[in-house]
Amino acid sequence: MSKKIFVGGLAMGGGSRVSVQTMTTVKTEYVSAVMAEINSAVSLGADIVRLAVRDERDAAALRELVALSPCPLVADIHFDYHLAIKSVESGVHKVRLNPGNIGGERAIKAVSDCLKANGTPVRVGSNSGSIEKEFLEKYGRSAEALAESALYSASLLERFGVQNIVLSAKASDVATTVRAYELLSERCDYPLHVGVTEAGGGKMGLLKGAIGIGSLLLKGIGDTVRVSLTGGVEQEVIAARDILRATGVDKNFAEVVSCPTCGRCDYDAAALAEKIAKATENVQKPIKIAVMGCVVNGVGEGKDADVGIAGGKDKCVIFVGGEAVRTVSPSVAEEELMKEVRAWLAKN
Ligand code: SF4
Repeated sequence: MSKKIFVGGLAMGGGSRVSVQTMTTVKTEYVSAVMAEINSAVSLGADIVRLAVRDERDAAALRELVALSPCPLVADIHFDYHLAIKSVESGVHKVRLNPGNIGGERAIKAVSDCLKANGTPVRVGSNSGSIEKEFLEKYGRSAEALAESALYSASLLERFGVQNIVLSAKASDVATTVRAYELLSERCDYPLHVGVTEAGGGKMGLLKGAIGIGSLLLKGIGDTVRVSLTGGVEQEVIAARDILRATGVDKNFAEVVSCPTCGRCDYDAAALAEKIAKATENVQKPIKIAVMGCVVNGVGEGKDADVGIAGGKDKCVIFVGGEAVRTVSPSVAEEELMKEVRAWLAKN
């Protein structure tokens, strides 16, 4: 198991809840636009938000952003160790940097001392484009090279006594990413920030993120996740939340299971399933609701649901805890099923 660290008040690693991250898309100096993205991300389920700190103006905005933000913030810095120090001193809850590109030994020591003095954790790691030459020569562009490069980044800070480290090793290739994280989880106990980098957008980006992150989570690997999607903060957070739910890592929601329907289905089960999913999207308790297309197989198939419905031409059977409780007309199926859902939620 990974060790536990704290990002602000949020525990990461050591069996803590897997947290959801995203990254803002507007320049960090524009406080109100950044806050709009942060608030929107948090309202959808983000636990941590990362901001790019590119220059002095961005760094100068951090203190105000930290004061306004409802969640911990991570400053993402490249090349300039002064910006890293300024960010930490502004109170950000974590920094993301690459010790290999912030200006050599003295810079690494200065940042390390600042991190330790402020108790601020740091994420370091590799991605396909940042692997050092020596690892490329030794391992080629591979999972092994990614993992070794990430561990090497951590070692640059470890030498100066930094211990609150989160590691990442991302590739845009799903299989390489998954293997790199497997290697990291075998070779260190740092909390792991998992994601598939430059996954793209649309359906393929979503699938790459879901398969990469999902398969790691199913193996118990990953302490915080970011779904990188070209397209915006909201999409990323919703996708991450759905991956946590689909893998069973997050159980506190209403899971609507429904059959694919077939020639035995005599009512619009797909539309009903969609309506029930919409009506229960804000539920934060584990409940399984089955919407099945027919009574022939529906009741049996939906038996492990807490509440369910199996439709027919003129009547639908509602069942609770696997037992049929009453029949209703398909025209009132949504209303009647939701009554049982609400009753179940009130009792449990
Ligand atoms: S539950 Fe009924 S309608 Fe749905 S797929 Fe199975 S047999 Fe077909």
